[in-house]
Amino acid sequence: MSNNPEIRIKVKDAIELITEMFKTKECSDYEAQTIAERLCGANLKGHDSHGIVRVPRYFEWMEREWVFANRKAELVIDAGALACLDAKQGFGQVAGEYAVDEGIKKTKTHGVSVVGLRNSGHLGRIGDWAERAADAGFVSFHFVNVRGSLLVAPFGGTDRRGSTSPLAIGIPSKDKEHIILDMATSTVAEGKVMVAQKGGKSLPAGALVDSSGNLSTNPEVMYGKIGEDEVPDSENGTGAITAFGLHKGSGINFMMEMLGGALTGSGVSAGIDDKEKRKFANGMLSIYISVEKMVDLDYFTKEVQSYASFVRASPPSDKNGKVLIPGDKEIITNSDRMANGLPVAPIVWENIKQTAEKLNIQNLGRFQDAIL
Ligand code: NAD
Repeated sequence: MSNNPEIRIKVKDAIELITEMFKTKECSDYEAQTIAERLCGANLKGHDSHGIVRVPRYFEWMEREWVFANRKAELVIDAGALACLDAKQGFGQVAGEYAVDEGIKKTKTHGVSVVGLRNSGHLGRIGDWAERAADAGFVSFHFVNVRGSLLVAPFGGTDRRGSTSPLAIGIPSKDKEHIILDMATSTVAEGKVMVAQKGGKSLPAGALVDSSGNLSTNPEVMYGKIGEDEVPDSENGTGAITAFGLHKGSGINFMMEMLGGALTGSGVSAGIDDKEKRKFANGMLSIYISVEKMVDLDYFTKEVQSYASFVRASPPSDKNGKVLIPGDKEIITNSDRMANGLPVAPIVWENIKQTAEKLNIQNLGRFQDAIL
């Protein structure tokens, strides 16, 4: 294995290998390729915690029957501008597409729509769904929870009572450089704690809280003491990730459970009377709005662009820095990575190849030039 802290993987090769891997588990060609493309897409946008690092974990989840190949999401409520789909623990990469496409269809008719998605496999990078709606010209909001995942302490609390519950809001742009806010409602995503535990970028102040209520940046709070080669397991820690933004962010994190979990019928991350851990699923409540039905499109475009430029023009506090608006960072990262490949720790690529070997993928030597 390489000793470099980071290697760059060719996007095309990563998609090809990962697609082949999922096909061995009865995913249709389309499903396998969509999973591969969306995981690589998260890396391209800079969200490595939701990218190809997840491949071995997805196979583990199939074995545990937390997610199933080729489950088509079912439209269980179809009432005018309102719909709800049940993904029946199918892959979120495909279920998410069905849900957004239903929202787009209804918004074309009604000018607005509300679509719930319940019991979905991991929906990955939630910005994907806001982008898909923006490609169709619609503003959208996505409120997501993670049933069965307890990682986040409420403001003032000392243990895990909620999930990292992401929120995404998309504003369409004619040039397709949509404005996409896409964020976990925890101070950091769990993937970032793992990175810090492996000696990577350290955590921002107050990212974690230990069981005595002390704020911390020490990943041991989440994983306990572990050896260098051990895989961090959040079951072994006693502390939690903090919700972002003090009491206000904690309130938004709470509302994700209400909207993505309770209102969609997917279920909240955990309940007071639970005897056992709930099965992992994402729930997502999405709202779509047609810009043209609300306001003149040219006026909207001009106002959006004008305000974006006004904000970006703020003198940066760091003289070498740049003021960004939501989605800018992803656009910048995407163009670098499309040209130069996906940066990953060597162990990430190694683990994918080991999983591929276990799946009996033939002739893995084909991918030896995948590292740039
Ligand atoms: P992040 O902190 O990297 O970015 C959050 C937002 O801030 C983005 O909209 C980004 O464009 C913006 N941003 C980043 N740097 C900026 C800067 N310097 N100035 C202005 N704006 C800036 O994201 P995160 O909270 O770590 O989330 C990571 C990913 O994890 C997201 O894609 C999210 O959807 C995903 N996620 C998914 C799940 C799930 O269950 N499916 C759960 C949690 C998180």
